[in-house]
Amino acid sequence: MFDWLIVGAGFAGSVLAERLASQRGERVLVIDRRHHVGGNAYDRLDEAGILIHQYGPHIFHTNADSVVDYLSQFTAWRPYEHRVLAMADGMLVPIPINLDTINRLYGLSLTSDELAAWFAARAEPIAEIRTSEDVVVSAIGRELYEKFFRGYTRKQWGLDPSELDRQVTARVPTRTNRDDRYFTDTFQAMPAQGYTRMFERMLAHPNISVMTNADFGSLREFIPHRRLIYTGAIDEYFGLRFGRLPYRSLRFVHTTLDTDRHQPVAVVNYPQSEAYTRITEYKHLTGQAHPQTSLTYEYPSAEGDPYYPVPTQENQALFKRYERLALAQPDVWFVGRLATYRYYNMDQIVGQALATYRRIDAQLGRSSAS
Ligand code: FAD
Ligand code: UDP
Repeated sequence: MFDWLIVGAGFAGSVLAERLASQRGERVLVIDRRHHVGGNAYDRLDEAGILIHQYGPHIFHTNADSVVDYLSQFTAWRPYEHRVLAMADGMLVPIPINLDTINRLYGLSLTSDELAAWFAARAEPIAEIRTSEDVVVSAIGRELYEKFFRGYTRKQWGLDPSELDRQVTARVPTRTNRDDRYFTDTFQAMPAQGYTRMFERMLAHPNISVMTNADFGSLREFIPHRRLIYTGAIDEYFGLRFGRLPYRSLRFVHTTLDTDRHQPVAVVNYPQSEAYTRITEYKHLTGQAHPQTSLTYEYPSAEGDPYYPVPTQENQALFKRYERLALAQPDVWFVGRLATYRYYNMDQIVGQALATYRRIDAQLGRSSAS
């Protein structure tokens, strides 16, 4: 009999397994239907011996010291600041849009103050900013929206930005200075030996057992457990009772080239004509020295593993119906990006899992482990 069955060995499941095992001394079984731990942050050496991210580029960034302190028990860090270029009108320019983006794209030499006025002259006033189109058009106008956001978003989500909640494009700011970092968080780094190694250390507690290639749907009857933590898709847990909750998927095409370097930065975005959204070159992220280089192309898709909750009003309403069922389940906790249907980054999932642990600990009181 396990004290806990945890479905999913990503950040949500692994953090909770580690806390319950090490702090409450309880016996935990973590299962994952994939053949590995780490969830979407899983990385591995490819055939050339280059460290790649199986499910697309994962860059760790946070403002939460508590999250850094927690994860630092399981990994050292390699400082890394993420920079992204976008292929717009045949030119590679910085994204988020900044002073250099506009000066290069339009052959101008504006100052920061002049750029603020330039944006203001193009911005369309919108009384209530509700959608992902509103966010961009109200800040920088329709032309830049078309060049950088509309095509990318339609590819990525299969929806027009006008159909998506504002939170989606609000992730990408606009700047009038020359800061070309993708993120401005206080802590930005990559796990020094990769994500998978970090997960292995988190799960290497004697109270934790891990089973991969193990699907909850077919095993749930057969694993005796007292309590459950579920980090998979919430609609699937309830047998799609109210209909399918949309999760956006991606097809990843990994390739290795016989050249040392393919592109100037780790990620190049393709917001215009290509079928893929971005190309990642991993050696920029990891600092690995190797005569070859490995890349991943991302092709968005409606079919396949669930990766992104799709933030629309309609989907949120459907999620709420599932959430009401979830809240009524005794001894089951729903945690993580798929189970709480939120477009969360890794650090937010760690924060959510640590908060869930504190709630569980307060609710259950002193450990009941045998
Ligand atoms: P997951 O990592 O999805 O883990 C859930 C696990 O549960 C999976 O391994 C799945 O196989 C398993 N599972 C589901 N159902 C079942 C079942 N029925 N039985 C058994 N196992 C099951 N965040 C950042 O902070 N920075 C980034 O740069 C970044 N880049 C990203 C790029 C891409 C392409 C994607 C898709 C996400 C990115 N993220 C990034 C977000 C990050 O991946 C998530 O925040 C994080 O992985 C969520 O962790 P999780 O544990 O909630 O879910
Ligand atoms: N986006 C865009 N053009 C870009 C980059 C982002 O239109 O060049 C939009 C797009 O809708 C994307 C969202 O902003 O899904 C969030 O971008 P982010 O890079 O945070 O996406 P993620 O890394 O989560 O896939």
